Amino acid sequence: MTSVETVSGVAANLARVRARIDEACRAAGRDPAAVRLLPVSKTHPTALLREAYAAGVRVLGENKVQEAAAKAAELADLPDLGFAMIGHLQTNKAKDVAAFATEFHALDSVRLAEALDRRLETADRTLDVFVQVNSSGEDTKSGVGPAEVLDLVRAVDQADRLEFRGLMTLAANSDDEDRVRDCFVLMQRLAAEVADAGFAPAGAVELSMGMSGDFELAIAHGATTVRVGQAIFGARPPAA
Ligand SMILES: *Cc1c(COP(=O)(O)O)cnc(C)c1O
Repeated sequence: MTSVETVSGVAANLARVRARIDEACRAAGRDPAAVRLLPVSKTHPTALLREAYAAGVRVLGENKVQEAAAKAAELADLPDLGFAMIGHLQTNKAKDVAAFATEFHALDSVRLAEALDRRLETADRTLDVFVQVNSSGEDTKSGVGPAEVLDLVRAVDQADRLEFRGLMTLAANSDDEDRVRDCFVLMQRLAAEVADAGFAPAGAVELSMGMSGDFELAIAHGATTVRVGQAIFGARPPAA
């Protein structure tokens, strides 16, 4: 196999991040195959998304509906490329996500679950869903509080077109590792509660958590999908 040299180095960055994931799994006594890397390509041009695809990536994370829909259209020649929407979504944009996304990691209300279910029914599609939890209590963060998780999971369970995959969070934005760890520990506990309540077999509730700055710690606390942007695609413009 020949490796393709690129200016941006997306393939090399992917390999480096994957190696760090594998190392974090070893350190935690976990199987590296149990942790999925979701590269987050928001703000970056489709040329870089194509590089990721060429390196084997088949699902990309995006946080804005309009940007993601435009990229999906531009990359329609890559039919097996999926898009995971990871950003807060207004109910009135449910239709746009239902049209093209393969995963949604930011479900934060029953109303949005119902709107997505209706739009998916019309589009004759299904959507893998993660319930977003505000695990840090920071009021800048989206997501339901820990006490509301089961009600929202129940709504997903009752929606024909939504496939419940697990819980998602952004940990505290802090240099204090203990504060970040507390968020991940809370998520592990909530995943166990969801399983105990019968919504999924034990151990089958996925955890979408961990970003460029904290994915190793997230893996130590049970992350099954890490959402990594900067460490793969480079710095984003400050406004994003
Ligand atoms: C941007 C973003 C990420 C990736 O963050 P990086 O610091 O670039 O790794 C992960 N999750 C969400 C919800 C994001 O918006």
